[in-house]
Amino acid sequence: MNIKKLIKGNKRFREAKFTQYKDDFKTLVEHGQKPNILFIGCSDSRVVPDLIVDSKPGDMFLMRNIGNFVPPFKDDFDFHGVSAVIEYAVSVLKVKDIIVCGHTHCGACASLYEDLSTNKKLIHVRKWLELGQKAKEYALLNLLNKKSSKEQLLRTTEKISVAYQLENLLTYPEVAKRIKKGKLNIHGWFYDIEDGSIEVYNPKKAKYKKLK
Ligand SMILES: [Zn+2]
Repeated sequence: MNIKKLIKGNKRFREAKFTQYKDDFKTLVEHGQKPNILFIGCSDSRVVPDLIVDSKPGDMFLMRNIGNFVPPFKDDFDFHGVSAVIEYAVSVLKVKDIIVCGHTHCGACASLYEDLSTNKKLIHVRKWLELGQKAKEYALLNLLNKKSSKEQLLRTTEKISVAYQLENLLTYPEVAKRIKKGKLNIHGWFYDIEDGSIEVYNPKKAKYKKLK
């Protein structure tokens, strides 16, 4: 893929797919967007939210970042990109569901096991990866003394990280308030990039279950 291919792609899109969605876009322009779902996924190019759930324009408000992490709520006046998305989705769009979706072979989770401390080009990535630290600690502790492979360690890290990000989501006062009122639900998902399947996290059982 290169930029020339993308430009040609837009031509094809306008000629074929845009026509298919023409009425949808017309309605979305006239009435504005009213997505019911906020999808928080990884920036990984292999995890394409609208593709994996076969959704349409206007269905989901999207936030993708390295590792599908959710920083805990911070009551200050700094630049908080992820928090601004959550705030807008919850308080303005009034989404009914928030999905935090992790995935197999996540580079962010793998990077937790690498030493980036001297890499001056990655100062922001290094800081951002702190949001996966708890998952790494859990995975190491949980698989200690078990003859686990590196792959098992990574899968555990990726999966438990989603649970920690859901915990962080609850630190947002509006999120917690709307959940309490029964107006919002939060979900932990785990996408397998090898077969396209999704597992759903059950916080009560601390287990995942594959969607049929
Ligand atoms: Zn990832």
